[in-house]
Amino acid sequence: MVSAASSSAIPGRRVALLTLGCARNEVDSEELAARLHADGWQVSTDGEGADVVLVNTCGFVEKAKQDSIQTLMAAADTGAKVVAAGCMAERYGRELADSLPEAEAVLSFDDYPDISARLDAVLAGDKITAHTPRDRRELLPLTPVARQRSAVVVPGHATAGARPAGGTLVADEHTPAHLRQVLRRRLDSGPVASLKLASGCDRRCAFCAIPAFRGAFVSRTPDELLAEAEWLAGSGVRELVLVSENSTSYGKDLGDPRLLEKLLPQLAAIDGIVRVRASYLQPAETRPGLVEAIATTPGVAAYFDLSFQHSSEPVLRRMRRFGSTDRFLELLATVREFTPEAGARSNFIVGFPGETRSDVDELVRFVSAARLDAIGMFDYSDEDGTEAANLPGKVSAATVKRRYDRLSALADELCSQRAEERLGSTVEVLVDSVQDGVLEGRAAHQAPEVDGSTTLVAPAEGGVDLAVLRPGDLVRATVTGTEGVDLIAVPEEMISAAPRRAG
Ligand code: SF4
Repeated sequence: MVSAASSSAIPGRRVALLTLGCARNEVDSEELAARLHADGWQVSTDGEGADVVLVNTCGFVEKAKQDSIQTLMAAADTGAKVVAAGCMAERYGRELADSLPEAEAVLSFDDYPDISARLDAVLAGDKITAHTPRDRRELLPLTPVARQRSAVVVPGHATAGARPAGGTLVADEHTPAHLRQVLRRRLDSGPVASLKLASGCDRRCAFCAIPAFRGAFVSRTPDELLAEAEWLAGSGVRELVLVSENSTSYGKDLGDPRLLEKLLPQLAAIDGIVRVRASYLQPAETRPGLVEAIATTPGVAAYFDLSFQHSSEPVLRRMRRFGSTDRFLELLATVREFTPEAGARSNFIVGFPGETRSDVDELVRFVSAARLDAIGMFDYSDEDGTEAANLPGKVSAATVKRRYDRLSALADELCSQRAEERLGSTVEVLVDSVQDGVLEGRAAHQAPEVDGSTTLVAPAEGGVDLAVLRPGDLVRATVTGTEGVDLIAVPEEMISAAPRRAG
């Protein structure tokens, strides 16, 4: 059963919801916003005048944790009561509460269904004891197909029934997805929204702490996803970005490990949606049928967010990952056989324990041949509770930095070259924003936040009048220039105009 909140409606309570980290966290914040709004809270995304500032933290790496702490401390300076939730709060619980007295409470994911009551307690001056973190993988059955019936709280997965007058939002496993209320309140009015496919991860990458606090892999059902996607489309969303910790595993706990191939065309067919983008693909699980579905389904961006992490086999094995330079190049070649202009991006870690100079040369060989549109380069650092933190052969900090600087500069150069290869080509650009006459958007190979963008400029003659374009419009454009990974393009033709709203 999902219960959204207690109904202790105290009028006029104001909460500011600040979100750090990734798109998955943004979805979780929108679920929290829905629960709080349903219980009478005024929800905003800026701390001004708030009674409580709820910070949805990120606990990914040291830098992200520092950003979260600074946000919590800055919020405390406003005089509002400050509450920490999200990944860092889940990961450190009581330890965070002890080290950060500025926070009135440190909440677990388990508190999410009762978030309104927790914030009421904070406002009333009650003491909330922070949780002792546990490995959330152990909360769910080992067998994936048994997980759907579990009552464990998974942020961003909740739906709720219709709200009876003055009552509580409830739904149980017998309530069909299409009859449930989508438990989400948008905190952003842009034409792009993330849709959470699944949460958690069953893989055992040696450097990654995320599964311990996000838990084992759990998919949301297609019915639930389609209902939420329709609701998002109804609120003006034009592009859906499918997020999870590992999208290639989608459906394995629903008895169909190839479910993503079936879901993509259904999402793309939703009225108003002009682009569906899959993210977080595991190379080891990227089967040919999925490559074909992503590369060729109308309305699905031919975009491959493949998390390679390295390409030297000895490093990959120590990371407990699969693949090699040649296997990854073959995978990219398969993608480009279907769609030569497909987008591809990846993340890499340099300085992993045991990494040698020849491993770095192997990674250089890979990135130089891969023609990636965007690269996220990370310098390795030990993360609490990971296998890698205890591995021998640590690379000195100075060497990690040197390798990181070298690979980052190379990545920038290679991605800029890849952008230049697109000069003169035709791209489909979704307009994200129109501000002071500047039109920013993204082509199919550009995901929001993490990749480059496209600026639309006026055609010399003909084409589309820039003055008529609005966020959410999809245009066909010709690439006329580049700036690093960003493109400059001239709109030639409107493909799909976003519905114009009155007023
Ligand atoms: S899922 Fe990972 S990246 Fe996203 S907010 Fe949590 S720790 Fe940060």
